[in-house]
Amino acid sequence: MDRDDLQVKLDRVLHDHGVQIRDSDKWKVRDDVFDEVTLLALYKLIHKKLITAVGGSISTGKEANVIYGEKGSDALAIKIYMIRTANFKAMTEYIDGDPRFSNVRRTRKEIIFAWTKKEYSNLSRAKEAGIRVPAPYAFDRNILLMEFLGNDGHAYPQLRHAELDEPSAVYQAVVQDMKTLYSKAKLVHADLSEYNLLWDGERHYVIDMGQAVTLDHPRALQFLMRDIRNINRFFGAYGDIIEDKLLFESIVGESISRP
Ligand code: ADP
Ligand code: MN
Repeated sequence: MDRDDLQVKLDRVLHDHGVQIRDSDKWKVRDDVFDEVTLLALYKLIHKKLITAVGGSISTGKEANVIYGEKGSDALAIKIYMIRTANFKAMTEYIDGDPRFSNVRRTRKEIIFAWTKKEYSNLSRAKEAGIRVPAPYAFDRNILLMEFLGNDGHAYPQLRHAELDEPSAVYQAVVQDMKTLYSKAKLVHADLSEYNLLWDGERHYVIDMGQAVTLDHPRALQFLMRDIRNINRFFGAYGDIIEDKLLFESIVGESISRP
């Protein structure tokens, strides 16, 4: 199927299901986003009435694109993992060693699908533990639907672009999230930084949890230390921080002493 065929097919799917297009210029098939697998996943989600409107692109990343959408009156973030550009070797490293995904077949597609499912389940676990993350709504193949974090279709800025009145209070809150994630959700984020924290003007949200691993992953502690270094590097520019090793011990230690 070539691009024109895909475009016709996509337009028909959107039209037949009464899906509104909020930003039509941006809803052209771009061959890097809408391969056949993505189209099929999109079709399934639309058919289940989990997407009733689509909007423009929120973010175009190396491995995923995020698009604005709606389900009725709920705003959605539609995250599409791209099969063509994915870094499979890196992904496999995060999936291996996670008992939840040990039976995953190793074709390229299967890895991406497992990754999408992994982000969904990581977001669920984090949310259940009380962390402010986008509520995960559904997933199909390489597409994850989640709560849109923003106002009037505008996503909240990443923490690196936010103006913080009280950075030390935000630091404390992020540290608390690392502790809660570790001791309650039994997860390490593994890509925590000012890029994957959004700022709503008063508080932060944690996003982008595809790579998060369970504590039994052989590299969990290594990933935790890397998260700590990233967070300390960012907040260290604002003021006092808890030294890397001390923070590491307090996150891991509190978890050990708490049954
Ligand atoms: P990646 O970094 O792998 O491309 P992310 O999950 O970090 O994917 O998303 C990329 C960007 O898209 C984020 O930095 C943020 O700006 C936006 N974004 C992601 N999820 C949401 C969401 N739930 N609500 C609003 N914006 C989002
Ligand atoms: Mn990210």
